[in-house]
Parts: sequence; C-alpha cells; structure tokens
Amino acid sequence: MPQTVEITLTPKEAADSTSYTAAAIKAAGIRSPEDVAFCRVVRRSIDARRHTSGIMGVRVNMAVELWLDADGKPEPVHFEWGDVSNVPASREVIVVGAGPAGLFAALELIERGFKPIILERGKDVSTRKADIAAIQRNERVNPDSNYAFGEGGAGTYSDGKLYTRSKKRGNYRKALEILHFHGAPEEILYDAHPHIGTDRLPRVVAAMRETILTAGGRILFDTRVTDLLLSPDKRAVQGVETGNGERIMARAVVLATGHSARDIYELLHRKGILIEAKPFAMGVRVEHRQELIDRIQYKTVDPYLPAATYSLVAQVPSGLKSGMGPRMRGVYSFCMCPGGFIVPALTEAGECVVNGMSPSGRNNVFANAGIVTQILPEDFADLVPHFGPLAGMRFQQQLEKMGYAQGGGAQVAPAQRLDSFAGGFKCGETLPTSYHPGVVASDMDKWMPRFMAQALRAGFREFDKRMRGFLTAEAQVIGIESRTSSPVRIPRQRETGMHPQVAGLFPAGEGAGYAGGIISAAVDGAAVANAVVDFIRSAH
Ligand SMILES: Cc1cc2nc3c(=O)[nH]c(=O)nc-3n(C[C@H](O)[C@H](O)[C@H](O)COP(=O)(O)OP(=O)(O)OC[C@H]3O[C@@H](n4cnc5c(N)ncnc54)[C@H](O)[C@@H]3O)c2cc1C
Repeated sequence: MPQTVEITLTPKEAADSTSYTAAAIKAAGIRSPEDVAFCRVVRRSIDARRHTSGIMGVRVNMAVELWLDADGKPEPVHFEWGDVSNVPASREVIVVGAGPAGLFAALELIERGFKPIILERGKDVSTRKADIAAIQRNERVNPDSNYAFGEGGAGTYSDGKLYTRSKKRGNYRKALEILHFHGAPEEILYDAHPHIGTDRLPRVVAAMRETILTAGGRILFDTRVTDLLLSPDKRAVQGVETGNGERIMARAVVLATGHSARDIYELLHRKGILIEAKPFAMGVRVEHRQELIDRIQYKTVDPYLPAATYSLVAQVPSGLKSGMGPRMRGVYSFCMCPGGFIVPALTEAGECVVNGMSPSGRNNVFANAGIVTQILPEDFADLVPHFGPLAGMRFQQQLEKMGYAQGGGAQVAPAQRLDSFAGGFKCGETLPTSYHPGVVASDMDKWMPRFMAQALRAGFREFDKRMRGFLTAEAQVIGIESRTSSPVRIPRQRETGMHPQVAGLFPAGEGAGYAGGIISAAVDGAAVANAVVDFIRSAH
C-alpha cells in the first residue's frame, strides 16, 4: 500500500514537482529517495488564513502518495462499459438533452449494457461556437443554439467548476474520473476546488461524444423534442415526437433538458403531467478587478498563486413576516469566475440574462460572480392564480424582460456601480467590463422588485464586513442573473426515480430540480440511468 503524507508548502514550492516530492519523501521519513517508484498528489488546497501554524502568508496544503517498488503502481484512471453492439431495441433508452445530466446518463446506460439515443435541440459543440460568437456580437440569438443549449449543455462555455455542496448523492469521484479520462487535466482529481475552463471543456465534451458513439449509442443534434408520447391511459411514456414530426419510441425517457427549457415545462403542464413551483434565486452579477480580489483574499501578490476566489453567504431580513416574527432571506455568491468574463446566457431574443465563464488559466483581469437572493413562493404569489406551477418561471421571465428593456436592445445589459447600487444613490457611470455586448448605466436598484434590491443591498454590506474592500466604487453590478436554479420541479419518486404519474419518464438534472451545477447534474444523470435499468429489468 502506498504511504500518504500531508505537507504544507509555499505556493512556489507547491508549483514545483521536484520540491513537493522531496518534501513528501522527507515527511515520510524515507531515507533513500531512489526507493520511491511513483509519487502523486491526491489532495491540494490553498490556505489563505493568516498565521496558520505560526507561519505568515498563504500556504498550500497537499496530501501526497508515495509508492515504493514493492507497492506496485496505481491503477490508471478508467471506466468500463459493456458490449452494446446489436443491443435489442427493447434496450434502447431515449435521453433528451446532451448536458452533463444527459451525457452522464448515456455513459452509465452504456456501462450497464443499454443503448442511449440522445436527442439534443442544439448543435455539436464546435458548430455551436458560431452561434455563441453571434450572440456576443449583438447579432441574432438562435433559440436552439446558445450558451444554454447545444452539446455539453449549459456548462460547456463556462468556468467548468466541478465542486458541489452535496457529494453524497452519487458517485462524485467517478464523475471526475470520467471527465479526466476524456481529457480534463489530472488536477481535477485532487484539487479542493477543481475546474476545467471554457477553452478545454469543448474538447472533453467532444471526447465523451466519441465514447458514446463508439460504444453503440446514438446522438441526434438539431433535434428538439416537442411532445411526449403517452399510452392511451396516460400512465406510461412510449416515446417522443421531435420538431420535424419524427416519432421515436422507447420504454424509458430520461428528461434532462436543463432549467432554461421553458417549452418543456409548458409542455408538461399542458399535458397535465405534474410539475411544481419551487424556490429559486435571482440577482445580479458583480464584477471587480481580479487584482483587488487577490489583494483582499491573499493580502499579497504572488505569481505562484492562482486567481483568488470567494464564496459568500448572508442571511438578511426578507421583508416577509411569519408567526415567529420577521423572516430572513439568503443572499449568496454563485458561480464565482476568477479571471473570467461575463457572458450573455439568454435563450431567446428580448431577454437579459447574464452568467460567467473563465478560461483554464483564469487570467483575465476581471473577477465576477452572481450575487443572488432567494425568491420564495410568497414573492410571486400574485402570479399563481394565472400561471399555477409556472408562476415562478413567469416571474423570472418578467425580470429578464425588464432587464432587456433597460439594456436598450440586443444583448446590451444594464449596469450600475456597486456603491451606487448598495447605497441607493444615482451615479450614471459605468466601468470597463469583460461583458462584450456592452453595458448601459441604469438604476437597477430602482426598477427591480424592491424586496430583491433590499436583500441584495443588505447582502453586499454583509459581504464587505467579511471581505473588506468588496463594496467599492471600483466594482459594478450587471443584470440580470436569473438562471441560477430551476423555478420548477418535475417530481420523481424516491424509490423508482420515476415521475409519480407517468411510468418510464425519468426527470434528471438541473431542469428537474434535482441538481445545481455541472457535477451534481452529471452525478444525478448517472443515478437516474441506474433507475432506468432497474425499471426495464423489472418489467422483463
Ligand atoms: C455561462 C454558464 C456558466 C456556468 N458555469 C458553471 C460552472 O463553472 N460550474 C458549474 O457547476 N455549473 C456552471 N453552470 C451551470 C451548469 O452549466 C448547469 O448546472 C448544468 O449544465 C446543468 O446540467 P443539465 O444536464 O441538468 O442541464 P443543461 O446543461 O442545461 O443541459 C440541458 C440540455 O438539454 C437540451 N434541451 C433542452 N430542451 C430540449 C428539447 N426540448 N429537446 C432536446 N434537447 C433539449 C439543451 O440544449 C441542453 O443541451 C454554468 C451555466 C452557464 C449558463
């Protein structure tokens, strides 16, 4: 068995394999370094707290495995799938959506000997790039091919952060290994906060496609699912209909369409298939100079340190009351992109939606993050009589439309200096930004719902107490950050993973309300695939 040692190093030592190997060998008490056949990092995190272990300055904590000759060598990272050539038609499973949930569901199905047929409304990952470039140039928004829709799903042109708050829901480690197997860098296996970067993600997604095709799966691009085909008693799914009128039949359908697929929620509602409104979050994206965030977080400038990140959360008065007195509302940072860009993540013309992405080097001069507040059912209660379970989604749409009207056309977004937003005073000035389509000065705090502006303001003041200098005239907020989480849940049974009313229908990933982020959607997709296998096997 290899020996694992924990070491704490300066950023410079940690960046150099000779230095950390020597430090690990010394810490392990191994007298002859030549006895070590193999050395690998298994955990790495940055410790920016002051005076840790009596040492001043930022340190890197590492766990390193040392393999002696007698220990053999670690197994290469791999995963296996069965032989799916000539799988009988009864083993075909439709997977709607080629985002992380759909792709990982497909891989798991293959591993279990089933044949996925992936139907994706958007284009393959490289063709999709042209549509994204057009959006950045303030040109046409293709409603089937954009930052949210297309091969790889919403996370493809992103920062590719791979951490999740809940690692217990499925096989998180396996999901990381699959990404590494398909070309993601090895560091994702040991970094405390792994990320891939938007420049590398498309290649990883394309490699996953090749695996699926080689193993006998099918992928149909430019294929939007427009209807679910149900049995005469409406209690079982039999297949799907696509935008070009084609009908594709299967006993099980994985619905992994993401939370921007509003047409899918509308379809389910129209067909009387149960969906539920759920709490979600909206707000703005805040942009600082990365150098300022580095100074606040590290209190030093060190070329060996990565661009600093932050993760902030506060509870502020909600403006709502309960029997127990005033209620609180969460405000938190979301999808922080160090050294990144703000991008237009709308899916239809006439909306204003921003999000963030970073290249793998996280080397842009700006840092951005969503700063969002919880939207509770009471906040959109007046819309419920008109829209039922779609009320939260309509509220989300309304704000996106208001943002568009304030932006003044195409993808230009409203922006406000952070001190003016938090202080509630007029400013009229905008700052340089990474947001390519451009920004226009707007009193965002005045036109967004009052409860949101108040919560966000209170949140910014709290954040400044934890990160002194965060609330500054050198930062600005850009709107609207509206697609952080799904406003709708497509329910499923805990025991079967299936929709409670429709046998064979398996809601998965973020759009179903069971995941938030690339890795949790991936893990959920794989778990749903196993539920599909149990369903099909139990029917035979
Ligand atoms: C710009 C941006 C940056 C992000 N950065 C990060 C990050 O760094 N880290 C992180 O963890 N998360 C990030 N996210 C969020 C993350 O991308 C999502 O949580 C994740 O992709 C959800 O996976 P999913 O498979 O459930 O859904 P999605 O990724 O949304 O995939 C759904 C897929 O279904 C397809 N589809 C929809 N409707 C239909 C239909 N009717 N027929 C056929 N196909 C359909 C869509 O085209 C899409 O490809 C980011 C999102 C954006 C937009």
